Amino acid sequence: MNYRKMGKHGLKLSELSLGSWVTFGGQVGEAVARDCMKVAYDAGVNFFDGAEVYSGGAAEKVMGKVLKREKWRREGLVLSTKIFWGGKGPNDVGLSHKHIIEGVHAALRRWQQDYLDLAFCHRPDPDTPIEETVRAFDILVKQGKIFYWGTSEWSAEDVFKAHDVAVKHGLTPPAMEQPQYNLLTRDRFEKEYAPLYEKLGYGTTIWSPLASGILTGKYAGGKMPKGSRLSIDQNAWLKDLVATPERIEAASRLEPLAKELGCTMAQLALAWCLKKPHVSTVILGASKPQQVKENLKALDVAAKLDDAWLQRIEKTLAG
Ligand code: NDP
Repeated sequence: MNYRKMGKHGLKLSELSLGSWVTFGGQVGEAVARDCMKVAYDAGVNFFDGAEVYSGGAAEKVMGKVLKREKWRREGLVLSTKIFWGGKGPNDVGLSHKHIIEGVHAALRRWQQDYLDLAFCHRPDPDTPIEETVRAFDILVKQGKIFYWGTSEWSAEDVFKAHDVAVKHGLTPPAMEQPQYNLLTRDRFEKEYAPLYEKLGYGTTIWSPLASGILTGKYAGGKMPKGSRLSIDQNAWLKDLVATPERIEAASRLEPLAKELGCTMAQLALAWCLKKPHVSTVILGASKPQQVKENLKALDVAAKLDDAWLQRIEKTLAG
């Protein structure tokens, strides 16, 4: 495992990490989550990604239990939460001072930790002045309850606003973005965010590197494997969003390249992410420990992806 700096910051993240969206505490229980986390940890993964909304808080609870049981050294870990959707009440959502402080405190209880390394604004909140949000995160940083704060799927313009407010008032500026980035979803990461890397030294912790499994090829030709993420009723909204015929077809064009490289389609798609500049870590998602094992081998495939290969991938994808 290699460790990358989170942008200009001193924190080092394993280049592959593990997240818990819809899986831990939802699709799978504690035993499977533990097995997935152990495979990852044994391979050198140091970053585990949570959010207050994941399985209504159950994902962070499950990961907290695993950490307690395994007694992994806290200093060797990077743990996160994301704040925005904390519940049904009017003050349980968004990025108000109240919800940020209460949301992070609740996340600390679920994780059973005294501090978290990273806390993200899970989305922008047009109902709250950015200055209020910046001030709340600054307090948490100064109290040592979180070490870095950042954004997820904010516009670059809003990130700059938050940065400028922080600098103007001597507060802690945001440090990182958590955008979706994969072979099929690219523009925001590659174009809109370019000034964040260049001017602010932003790091990124990218999500859905396999487009929820589309890039594994397992949905090719409209197949819907039983038990897979997009086959589950409560994920119908996600299926409508990501499993369009065009995206499935584009993914299947990559199959011959994976064969030639001697790897799986998942490994090829993850290796491509690993090769892209400004990716601090690629967050894996997994419903089975075997998937984590398979996906970790993307590190070896990335070593084979030279410029010629990257160009072939682009050309093949373009059709
Ligand atoms: P992926 O796009 O990699 O999808 C992961 C899913 O794909 C797995 O749960 C599994 O689903 C399937 N899969 C993974 N590997 C394989 C394999 N080798 N073979 C077959 N199927 C495979 O990542 P996620 O969408 O899970 O995103 C990763 C993390 O990013 C999340 O866990 C979360 O922490 C974070 N995230 C952040 C968001 C944000 O707004 N900031 C939004 C979404 C995610 P199955 O087996 O059920 O088909």
